[in-house]
Amino acid sequence: MILYQSSFDLNKKLRSLQGNGLSIGFVPTMGALHEGHIALINHSKLKNNITIASIFVNPTQFNDPQDFAKYPATLEADIIKLSLAGCDLLFLPNIQEIYPNGTGNLPLYELGAIENLLEGFYRPGHFQGVCQVMERLLGIIQPNRLFLGQKDFQQCMVISKLNEQLPNRAIIEIVPTVREKSGLAMSSRNKRLSEEGLKNAAAIYQSLNFLKNKLAPGKLTDLLETAGKMLTDAGFEKIDYLVIADRASLSVLTHWDGKTPVTAICAAFLGGVRLIDNLALN
Ligand code: AMP
Repeated sequence: MILYQSSFDLNKKLRSLQGNGLSIGFVPTMGALHEGHIALINHSKLKNNITIASIFVNPTQFNDPQDFAKYPATLEADIIKLSLAGCDLLFLPNIQEIYPNGTGNLPLYELGAIENLLEGFYRPGHFQGVCQVMERLLGIIQPNRLFLGQKDFQQCMVISKLNEQLPNRAIIEIVPTVREKSGLAMSSRNKRLSEEGLKNAAAIYQSLNFLKNKLAPGKLTDLLETAGKMLTDAGFEKIDYLVIADRASLSVLTHWDGKTPVTAICAAFLGGVRLIDNLALN
């Protein structure tokens, strides 16, 4: 695996590879890698000649400075995992490389209603930050295919919207969520959970599955209340949201018509760690 820190050098290398007819698959990450990230690498390797990952903890997408400061960093282990997975290139930019003119005057994007729903509501400015870093990374890398995890379902929708506005559109491939045996979605933030927290955190998946099993046409409030109680009983101290939403728009539903494709989607705090997950219900 070849490591690049310079966007200029990386861009030159990638254009020469594409000039030789090779396709490029891109997996953007913030490091602290786990099997979920490696699943994206594996999918990219199946569909592309060259796979590139990036590791960059983007400050502009953190609305909470504490969350940014505490974001786990395991660079040496990450490099080993990527090499073992057969990743060809790794982009490790510093902040000047991504934001050469600073972070003060970055563009704002037209994202529509999705920007302020759910994650957007609880993390103001988060999706603008995601778009700022993704536009820059996609401009440098210009991948043929971009691999994203379904775990960050709303982020997939936002990046798809950004991608549509770009001159060189990538094909977006969404990879199913990789879970622990307990059902807990793998996440870099799980590294901050205690041993007991790791066990209790599986209640998110259990509550999403409960919603999947019990979904029926009509009012959803009682079902959601029981699902929420499963989280508080497991020790979750705060639920930002646990809702059933229209899968296409992510607008929150209080009734289900028995037909609309829906997703249960959740963000909640356990031991001070904010975890998110989602599950398609039908
Ligand atoms: P992150 O490093 O958390 O920014 O994630 C980088 C990419 O990995 C994003 O596209 C995530 O959606 C994806 N990802 C994170 N966790 C998982 C998981 N458990 N399963 C599949 N993809 C994941």
